[in-house]
Amino acid sequence: MKLLEGKRGLVFGIANDHSLGWHIARAAALQGARVGLNYHDDRLLRRVRPLADQIQAAFLAPCDVADEAALDAFFARAADVFDGQLDFVVHSVAFADRADLLGRFVDTTRAGHALALDVSAYSFTAIARRAAPLMLGGGSLLTLTYYGAEKAMPGYNVMGVAKAALEASVRYLAADLGPASIRVNGISAGPIRTLAAAGIPGFRDMLKATADKAPLRRNVTGGEVGDAAAFLLSDLSSAVTGEILHVDAGYHAVGV
Ligand code: NAD
Repeated sequence: MKLLEGKRGLVFGIANDHSLGWHIARAAALQGARVGLNYHDDRLLRRVRPLADQIQAAFLAPCDVADEAALDAFFARAADVFDGQLDFVVHSVAFADRADLLGRFVDTTRAGHALALDVSAYSFTAIARRAAPLMLGGGSLLTLTYYGAEKAMPGYNVMGVAKAALEASVRYLAADLGPASIRVNGISAGPIRTLAAAGIPGFRDMLKATADKAPLRRNVTGGEVGDAAAFLLSDLSSAVTGEILHVDAGYHAVGV
């Protein structure tokens, strides 16, 4: 039997076939899950629709995660398609104004700080609040984070602060939702070329520095993030919650 056979889930955050959300959705579908997908805005639909078709997605609908009404509409659709039951939700969404990633963190504007934290951190809580009532038999919530939450990384700035808030949210959500057998975890992925990564100044240097220093002496692939996610979404990880799993070729484990 496949790892996610019979499970119903949602994946937020596919922009194209490089997206970590896509690797996770594909891994989940390969493991037998039925998956509903969002797309952020109409400009992305052209790229996301063929991917949704490829995995025979249960549905594909628009959703801006910063918009409460859009989230309500998306979850109403999910409840309808999945007969009021969900087993997992993946949050693979982040955004910051590029101006706030250039230069010094100390110059971050109030508006830029609020935007980055709203889209990249608070949206996970907004999603969890809507998903939990549909997880009648327990469930798994998963988000994507980066080592810049733990250490000051060049070019990551306000996004590092947003990821730190996101990682703390994982622990608080795990505490709140654990009694309902809902697990909440994060994957801290090593750097991978994606649309979001293209907005990070010096990303190429980050890839090289990671591969030079990581114990495995290489970068990770989207497929490897998808596989780790399949584990965290499945019953194989039934006692794992409040956890940030580093899928980074071991980079976080070593010093200089
Ligand atoms: P990506 O650009 O493919 O995915 C980011 C997604 O966020 C896009 O689909 C975009 O449409 C969506 N998004 C942004 N604002 C949104 C909004 N308001 N409403 C709905 N969707 C919105 O890039 P990615 O690298 O796959 O990023 C996915 C996640 O993985 C992010 O949380 C990112 O921080 C994290 N991550 C990425 C890396 C990396 O190196 N690529 C490493 C660690 C963690």
